[in-house]
Order: sequence, then structure tokens, then C-alpha cells
Amino acid sequence: MKALAKTKGGPGLQIIETDIPKPGPGEVLIKVKYASICGSDVHIYKWDEFAQSEVDHLPRIIGHESAGEVVELGEGVEGLKVGDYVGIETHIACGHCYQCRIGKKHVCKNLKILGFHRDGAFAEYVVIPAENAWKVPESIPKHWVPIMEPMGNAVDTVLAGDITGADVLVVGTGPIGAMAVAIAKAYGAGRVIASDINDFRLNIAKKMGADYTINPEIDSLKTVVMDITNGKGVDVILEMSGNPQALESALSVITNGGWVGLLGIYGKNIIDMPLNSVIMKNITLYGITGRRMFSTWVKTTSLLDTKRVDLSPIITHISSLEEYKQAFDTIIQGAAMKVIFEIG
Ligand code: NAD
Ligand code: ZN
Repeated sequence: MKALAKTKGGPGLQIIETDIPKPGPGEVLIKVKYASICGSDVHIYKWDEFAQSEVDHLPRIIGHESAGEVVELGEGVEGLKVGDYVGIETHIACGHCYQCRIGKKHVCKNLKILGFHRDGAFAEYVVIPAENAWKVPESIPKHWVPIMEPMGNAVDTVLAGDITGADVLVVGTGPIGAMAVAIAKAYGAGRVIASDINDFRLNIAKKMGADYTINPEIDSLKTVVMDITNGKGVDVILEMSGNPQALESALSVITNGGWVGLLGIYGKNIIDMPLNSVIMKNITLYGITGRRMFSTWVKTTSLLDTKRVDLSPIITHISSLEEYKQAFDTIIQGAAMKVIFEIG
């Protein structure tokens, strides 16, 4: 089969020919139909420090956001059949650690990630544990299904605290922030304000339902937000930029007693933060990681199945695996949102 892999250190990727993997006990073989590029794949493409510390073996077939058809069942697999079209939960939990035993598989102590710690889905076929396959209804367009994985990150961030009637600031409208805009609206948020330094992406956030958009490099975030909220500030911040300065300036416009969902990953672990004002303003911070298995998938499926969220505005490019270089470079240039590989 054909696959996109990292075969050696340094920037870039390689198209390889390799054997179709065999599903072991409890696993299934998926014929991949669509896969989408995640920001973390871009780290692997660039081969930065993060990628070097996370990818535990080379060569490695990369890619995780994906969907396809079940074509072979390993020994003992129940609840799935050949021909099922499934989305893939890319985090593989051990099932026996403390967190797994108490229903928190998304924070499993022994978590393995597809495309990092075992061969991934930018390939014609991928093997996954059967429990990581999520059946989706026919009503959801097949090429949207890979995006249900990052959409789950947005769902868990939006639902970390009470969003109903809340004025919300979404900081960073990459694919996940743009989806968070639509999800917050669907779950009954009040005014949703989206902030990004990339106008192309802000326009997409508008199409996803943002009531207001702000480019903080052009307008003062504080002035605009205070104006929109009549001096109150926002009730909720959804931090999806991974930019420490963006977090700091967002915290200056949150109202007392508000909450912050932190999803963006910062370039370094320790960042400056106005912690005394977080304390004195009684702000709640939630760190968000992954997606709840599998209650988040139920919500994501429902949002798409009932058409409360439309993903078309964020799908800006559809590409073949062979055109990977152009696909990655377009993302790096900030000229794409979600790029989908059409594989099968
Ligand atoms: P992305 O990098 O495509 O989007 C980030 C956006 O933030 C970009 O559009 C960028 O222009 C914008 N931005 C940068 N500086 C800004 C500023 N000063 N003000 C406003 N916007 C600014 O990322 P994504 O794929 O949408 O993911 C969002 C974040 O979530 C990333 O940091 C990613 O690493 C992180 N992430 C976390 C998890 C988790 O489990 N915690 C999972 C997936 C992604
Ligand atoms: Zn575990």
C-alpha cells in the first residue's frame, strides 16, 4: 500500500510503499477514505523539537484525523462489521490505569497516539483497536468525518463550563477555534466574538457564526470587547491560539467570575500570566486535553447529524497524498484551514 511517512530526521516527509498491516486480536483494519492534516502533523513535517520528542520511532507512517471503511476484523471483535464507515478516535487508552478504570480514558496515563506512537492513517490502510472506531450515520458527509476528531477538542472546550447565554471570546480561529464558534452558538451562547491575526481565517469564523470578529493587530481587543459587552467584558474565553500574549490580553477582558477553557498549546511550558487578577476576579481555568471517550463523540455526531454545525466553511482544500508538500506548505503559509486528503 501507499503511505505518507517520516523515514528519517530533518524536515519533510516521504511517500512509501509498504505491506498492508494485519489486525491483531481486538483490532480492525480500516481502508482509509479521507484524512485531514492536524497542526501536530505540521510539527512532524517540520521536524521541530516537539515532533522529535513525541515521535518514538522512525520510519513512522504519520496522520491521525481520519475515516474509512472497516475491511477486516481481528480475533474477538464484536459490534463492528465489514463495510461499516467509521471515524477514528486517535488516542489509544491502555484500559487498565487509574484514569481508564474511573471513566477518564482521555487522560489515560499510558496514552498512545496514532501517527506518533504507532503507524498512522495517511495511508491506504490503517489498523486500530476496535474500540477506537466510531460508527457515523449516513447523514454526515463522508469527508467531514476525519474532522470529528479535532471537533471533539472544540466540543470539550466549549462545554467545560456553563456556556448558555454567555458572552464568549474565542481566541485564535484556526480550524478548532472556528468550530468552537459554531459549537458555542449551537449550545446557546450569547454573543460570540472571534479574534485572530489572520483575516482569511477571521472571515471563515464569521461564516461559522461569529457575531463579531477582531484582528488584535489592527484594533484594540479591550476597546472593542468592552464596547460590544457594554463595559461588562466576556463571561467565557476559549483560548485556541497557543499564543501567550493572546491569553494575557484576553484575560484583561474577562468579567469577574468568568471561566477560561485552555486548549491552545504554548511553545513553552511556563508562561507569564496575571495570576493575582485571576484569583481576585475569581476566574476558573480549565485545561482541556483530547476528547472524552466516547461521550464527546456522541455530542459531535449529534451536532453534525442534526445540522446544527456545518463544517463546509473550514474545508478549504482537498488534496491527494502525492500532493502532500503543497498541502503542508499552504497550511504553513496560513492560507488554508482544513486540508483533506482523499485517499480511498
Ligand atoms: P492553529 O495553529 O491552526 O490555529 C491557531 C490560530 O491562532 C491561528 O489561526 C493563528 O493565526 C491564531 N493566533 C496566533 N496568534 C494570535 C493572537 N495573538 N491573537 C489571536 N489569534 C492568534 O491551531 P488549531 O489546529 O486550530 O488548534 C488550536 C490550538 O489547540 C493549537 O495551539 C493546538 O496546538 C491546540 N490543540 C490542543 C489539543 C489539546 O488536546 N489540548 C488538541 C488539538 C490542538
Ligand atoms: Zn489508561
